[in-house]
Amino acid sequence: MFPKIANQILVVDEALQSINVIRQHQSIDLIKFFKFLSFFSKERSIVAGMVVFLLLITLSLASIVAWTSWQEHEKERSLAEATTSNLARALAQHASDSIQSTDNIVVSLINSVERTNKDRAPLRDLNPFLSQFVAELPILQAISILDEQGNTLASSEAALSKNINFNDREYFQHHKNTDDRKPYIGPAIHSKTTGELILTVSRRLNNPSGNFAGVVIAALRLDYFQYFYAELNIGHSGVIFVANDEGILLVRYPFVESALGSSIANGKVFDAYRNKGPVASVMVQSMIDQKNRLYSYHHLETYPLLIAVGIGQEELFSPWREKTFRLIVICGFLLILLSLFGTYLIRQINKRQTSESELQRAKLELESLNAELEKLASEDSLTGLCNRRKFDTTLKQEYVRAIRNRTSLALIMIDVDKFKQYNDIYGHPAGDDCLARIGTALKKMPSRSADLIARYGGEELIILLPETDIHGAENIAERARTIIESLAIPHSGNQPGVVTISAGVAALKPVLADPNPIGFLRAADEALYSAKAQGRNCVSR
Ligand code: GH3
Ligand code: MG
Ligand code: MG
Repeated sequence: MFPKIANQILVVDEALQSINVIRQHQSIDLIKFFKFLSFFSKERSIVAGMVVFLLLITLSLASIVAWTSWQEHEKERSLAEATTSNLARALAQHASDSIQSTDNIVVSLINSVERTNKDRAPLRDLNPFLSQFVAELPILQAISILDEQGNTLASSEAALSKNINFNDREYFQHHKNTDDRKPYIGPAIHSKTTGELILTVSRRLNNPSGNFAGVVIAALRLDYFQYFYAELNIGHSGVIFVANDEGILLVRYPFVESALGSSIANGKVFDAYRNKGPVASVMVQSMIDQKNRLYSYHHLETYPLLIAVGIGQEELFSPWREKTFRLIVICGFLLILLSLFGTYLIRQINKRQTSESELQRAKLELESLNAELEKLASEDSLTGLCNRRKFDTTLKQEYVRAIRNRTSLALIMIDVDKFKQYNDIYGHPAGDDCLARIGTALKKMPSRSADLIARYGGEELIILLPETDIHGAENIAERARTIIESLAIPHSGNQPGVVTISAGVAALKPVLADPNPIGFLRAADEALYSAKAQGRNCVSR
């Protein structure tokens, strides 16, 4: 029994040592932090709280990043809108001025020709003047006066255009068929004389009766616009275009010849023009190259032309994307650090919880072992009664207490009658069994909590009765005797035929002058001797 308990104690001791090692590994600051946290709540909810706390920080950080980058995005966009719409306005003014300067020449020629309408031969004399206009105005490629058949009456390039007919030109047919005096701005075409790309600004010539008499046409160099637009910084994917009210593309930078003359009337920019009016900005996809751009357009007030400036969406937001990416990387890094720290803290808390519960379990185990040890140290294993050691200690305590309280203390010394013979007749194991039964029976006997029944030695038992006088003790002794006799354990060697006991009773009020209970014990022993002498199975004092 004892080696087994010793082993268990060793195991518990080892567990306690390992728990102490774990505790020492935890930093003092961390434990203080935990204690501080546990001041507000239990540890389990600290872990949950920390997880929630980390999630909240993550969410807040993500919201801040999202909000900041959205603000930046909008700022970037409105800045680009302001820049492109200013540029579109300036280019509209430029285009308007350029066309106006040539249209003024066209208008003045119309007036002079119509005034001298009867005789057209002298118009040839205008050739040098027309050449001078072209030389002075870099935008002008050529300027000509055509008759009603499309033949040249006068031209800045008279020598080249002498035998060329312009009847097939779109602007010529337009004026021939449209009875109005408004200027017509034609799409990009190749000059019949030089082959270079030109735009045309033309007006109808009437004879005095108001019938069609020809056309005055100014050819504008497309290059002029291309070179001018090339000077502007609109990024790698930027675009500038000019279209007439029918949506016909007149000029486009960067230059795409196949796109010139095509219709973008169904494109998104023209959609916006129809819905939003003459000036606006839109983020749409190009019909020509399918790129997404922020377009700002401006419709000229004086001519049926629309000019638009577009900046590539990719390019426009690339600084914003870089900034946002940097912000996300920094925040992500911070979050990773925070999560690592959080995980570390949670692990430490869990470790501590585990060690605490192990400690608690070991403590309980130790307590129960201690209780078991205590019981073993004070109990007689055969009878289940208190042992001699326990009796001696209690007797001393009760003796001193009785001195202090001036109360009476009683002892009943019990001895099994003819027990040697019982062993001889029934065998030693049966003797052990008989003693165990006697112990159990006496233990069941009703008694006060302070009473103590012990195995005094061999087949001798003793009962200690605090605050009991001799009469009370005699009663109890008699009861004990009756109980054992009524067990009716056969004992042929004993005169009543069953196992009986004899009891000697002693009681006294101990005094300070006699602090040792030896005399008291002797008195009880002598009383027992007297009971034996009286023929056994009786109580004596
Ligand atoms: P009496 O007391 O009536 O004078 O006679 P007795 O036969 O009981 O005499 P004694 O007290 O001298 O003998 C006690 C015997 O009890 C001796 C011993 O063999 C027996 N005994 C003592 N302790 C134990 C025990 O633990 N188990 C068993 N089986 N017998 C024990
Ligand atoms: Mg004896
Ligand atoms: Mg005996």
